[in-house]
Amino acid sequence: MSFLTIVTALTEGGQYYRELPDGTIKQMNPFSGVQVWTVPGRGARPLGQPFVNPRPISDADRVSACSFCADRVLETPPEKSRLVGDPFGEMRGAFRTLRHLPADELSSTTAEFRRIPNLFEILTWQYWHANHGADLPEDARRWQESYLSDLAGLAHVRRVLDAKFAAQGLSLRASRLDAAGLRRESAPFFGGGHDLIVARRHYTDDATTTAGLAGSGQLSVSEHRAFIAMTVSATADLYASNPKARYVAVFQNWLQAAGASFDHLHKQLVAIDEIGASNEWALEKVVGDPYMFNRWGPDFAIDHHLVLAANDHAVAFVTFGHRYPSVEIWSTSRLDQPWRMDSQEVDAVSDLLHAVHVAIGADVPTNEEWHHRPPEVETPMPWHVVLKLRVSNPAGFEGGTKIYINTVSPASLCARLLPRLFDARQAGRLAEGIRIGEECDLPRGVIQAAH
Ligand SMILES: [Zn+2]
Repeated sequence: MSFLTIVTALTEGGQYYRELPDGTIKQMNPFSGVQVWTVPGRGARPLGQPFVNPRPISDADRVSACSFCADRVLETPPEKSRLVGDPFGEMRGAFRTLRHLPADELSSTTAEFRRIPNLFEILTWQYWHANHGADLPEDARRWQESYLSDLAGLAHVRRVLDAKFAAQGLSLRASRLDAAGLRRESAPFFGGGHDLIVARRHYTDDATTTAGLAGSGQLSVSEHRAFIAMTVSATADLYASNPKARYVAVFQNWLQAAGASFDHLHKQLVAIDEIGASNEWALEKVVGDPYMFNRWGPDFAIDHHLVLAANDHAVAFVTFGHRYPSVEIWSTSRLDQPWRMDSQEVDAVSDLLHAVHVAIGADVPTNEEWHHRPPEVETPMPWHVVLKLRVSNPAGFEGGTKIYINTVSPASLCARLLPRLFDARQAGRLAEGIRIGEECDLPRGVIQAAH
């Protein structure tokens, strides 16, 4: 660290994180400018919220509780790919990928994870088509042709289109479309840029009531690795199939209180034609000083005893300057885009993310936001995941001042999660090789891509 960098760190320190005599902590996020105050005395509430009116579940509920459930696959658009268990493969517990299954084969295997288009895209196919002249890639066009030429596939596409038209308040019916109209209206299903990665379970296998929802922490370590690897590969695929995509936003909203449409575990990937305001903010700040990611990330966490866990290629810590109490999981790889990393490096991030989800519990609404370096940008942006706990709702004060009141201080969140991590490891729920709290003994500058 140069002399100038040290001076900058010292003078900027108070600006970003300041503890007042009464215990109030005034924070400003160095990468987003978000202003947050933690006010003492408001943080004693439980993180989770009791499930309202749980009722017993039947076997049918496990496979048909919502449109993402296994018995309702025809309610979502044609499936891009799925992971199925491979018990007889070389590696027990491994998964293999099946791509572009015809509609009448969707029920012949059990999908552990499915990649499907979002029926209601944030950026529509028409947006890409009209503004960027995007057309279906050859691979997608061939898939569309074969899907629509199959009777079961045609019926599936018409059914999903009708549901979409109805939701949009249109009286249009898919059966009245001619061949060209059907190809046009169904194009987003085959070449759109907003995908979901949906997990198999709605409820955990041992759930007896509707309160037993299966979140990320209820997956096994290997299932969670497969979930992350599939999301990483879908990110790379969205870039490859749309040259006008400048960024692929990856996120997970867990529970309806955090913005999910169903309480059924899924991630979302959205290709966009900007790199995004938050990336622009952060990149502007770190250009010429990429060590900032270390300084205000793991180095800060070391100094303030906020490190939760680490393994050979990733680190997890409680962070500051977010609207909600947050944990961040950073890859320590030299590379800053997950699809270029080797599988051990991706698994390492997956294992820590999984561990933190286990510790937080399925009853806490969360937003998981992934960040990586946009391909056109040269400044490093190490791959990291921000996990926000939606334990409070911003109200009038926040709207009027743009200062967010965070009810749980970083130290208090860390103190709540550490014992849960130890318990989870004791119970055999975490991946091998995870060090917790003081065991981490991290050096400074652990994120190699940020040097
Ligand atoms: Zn479901």
